[in-house]
Amino acid sequence: MKYTEFIKKYASHPHYKSPTGNQLHAKSWQTEAPLRMLLNNLDHQVAEDPANLIVYGGTGQAARNPDAVKKIIEILLTLDENHSLLVQSGKPVGVVRTHPQAPRVLIANSNLVPAWANWEEFEKLKARGLTMYGQMTAGSWIYIGSQGILQGTYETFVECGKKHFAGNLKHKLIVSGGMGGMGGAQPLAATMAGATFLGIDIDPERIEKRIHTGYLDRITPDYHEAMRWIQQAKEKGKALSVGLVYNIVDALKKMYRDNIIPDILTDQTSAHDPLNGYIPRGFTLDEALQLRVDDPEDYKILSLKSMAQHVKYMLKMKGKGSIVFDYGNNLREFAFQGGEKNAFSYKGFVPEYIRPLFCEGKGPFRWVALSGDPQDIAISDQALIEAFPENHMLIKWLSEAQKKVEFQGLPSRICWLGMGEREKAGKIFNDLVRSGKVKAPFVIGRDHLDCGSVASPNRETEGMIDGSDAISDWPLLNLMANTAGGATWVSFHHGGGVGMGYSQHAGMVVVADGSESAEECLSRVLHNDPALGIYRHADAGYKTAVENLNKHHLNF
Ligand code: NAD
Repeated sequence: MKYTEFIKKYASHPHYKSPTGNQLHAKSWQTEAPLRMLLNNLDHQVAEDPANLIVYGGTGQAARNPDAVKKIIEILLTLDENHSLLVQSGKPVGVVRTHPQAPRVLIANSNLVPAWANWEEFEKLKARGLTMYGQMTAGSWIYIGSQGILQGTYETFVECGKKHFAGNLKHKLIVSGGMGGMGGAQPLAATMAGATFLGIDIDPERIEKRIHTGYLDRITPDYHEAMRWIQQAKEKGKALSVGLVYNIVDALKKMYRDNIIPDILTDQTSAHDPLNGYIPRGFTLDEALQLRVDDPEDYKILSLKSMAQHVKYMLKMKGKGSIVFDYGNNLREFAFQGGEKNAFSYKGFVPEYIRPLFCEGKGPFRWVALSGDPQDIAISDQALIEAFPENHMLIKWLSEAQKKVEFQGLPSRICWLGMGEREKAGKIFNDLVRSGKVKAPFVIGRDHLDCGSVASPNRETEGMIDGSDAISDWPLLNLMANTAGGATWVSFHHGGGVGMGYSQHAGMVVVADGSESAEECLSRVLHNDPALGIYRHADAGYKTAVENLNKHHLNF
């Protein structure tokens, strides 16, 4: 297919769609895969706002602008196995000579020199068209819709239930703000874990999207109706999820006044970006969007003040018995800046619930069927169920996900796998492709939120026992290990999850196309990537990570 025909069919802005089937448009699956995944990230079923190339997480973009998307496509359609494309903050800037097992795309997004690494500087540069915000999987072309965070959210709620409610979330109410791309996974994760859930978002369209994708049961703009629904459901022990169209601060204030105290309270509004993410109190959505343009300085001040009030009510709820934890959006930091001096008196979800998994090299492992055929995912699910009969959590998760998760865009799956398991799964998937049991190759990737790929002192590396929270050598080593190991595309980003200045992280995606060469790359990358997590946590002094060094023969 010619370039112009391809653009017309798959990338006519703002209508993006990945090709499906097993016919190549590019020269090999090594370049067809990033091409399909870029287009999939921008598919309206997947992305929150394709017209602005925004995928999720506030303003997380897949590419700088529509011309950059076209140019990336043009290059990928003709790139051979001895060259690699360079992408600088969503714009293609060069092609370098490499070799067949090198990554085909090398991506750097939103990086700023540390002393300049803040939203003000970033906004100036963005306004001049020089950069974009890549979030984590938006700019690295491995976003798979809300499912991407679903299992992590589920694991977090289940772990919280084990720690505080004897492992039973029935008759328990979970409340959270933000029902966007990632936050929208919370209602389904909560009901899968057996709880009643209330999600509060000011934007009705975001909540509607969760209803359409099967993640949420009901929506209302009426505070009293929402309270009635959740209280009845909680009493009956019904796993119901409700979306309330409201500003989170106003909702929490009223709930506190009415003595409706959540059992678990967290938040996933896009607080990481006080200007283009969070909506301050006292404005309709439209008024807030207008103020962003008319008076960004004032907007930011109001945003920080609102976040301080937001956290104040979270702390008040904590005082009344709610289990409160931060869910990775840097709300505490901006609430602190807005005047709430006790903002850091509750912990983040990583030190509370996830770090023990990181010490085993466990993290979010995801794969996508490039064929577009859901049956390929069903076959891969079954293959994993057979390969890991002793992993009951995994089997339960895959069976539940098969029943409850509706695909967005190309069919995909996520599950948390650790050291050894990821490599084994990669080989299984490559064999499925080689033997023709599935219709086309898989891509295997992960969130940047993983055991060894991120430095983020208010999130993944919060409260490390050796105090190494802010050391960002680790994600750089992760990037280099995955580049040297032969991932199909790699990325290094700044500011994902928690905003400019607060994180640095690396991403990787590797293709299982059934070839010998892919098997070599998969084996190296899916070994090295979780190994970095074990090395990082063992170096910090975590006992289980040291044990895992021995268990997996990682001593050196
Ligand atoms: P998103 O931008 O798609 O959605 C954010 C939602 O918050 C929007 O729907 C918006 O309307 C709503 N909102 C903003 N201010 C509000 C207010 N005051 N009251 C009510 N609703 C409000 O973002 P997302 O992809 O859902 O991510 C949410 C946050 O979580 C981001 O800060 C992101 O960086 C962070 N994040 C967390 C994880 C994790 O693992 N926990 C992973 C990725 C991202």
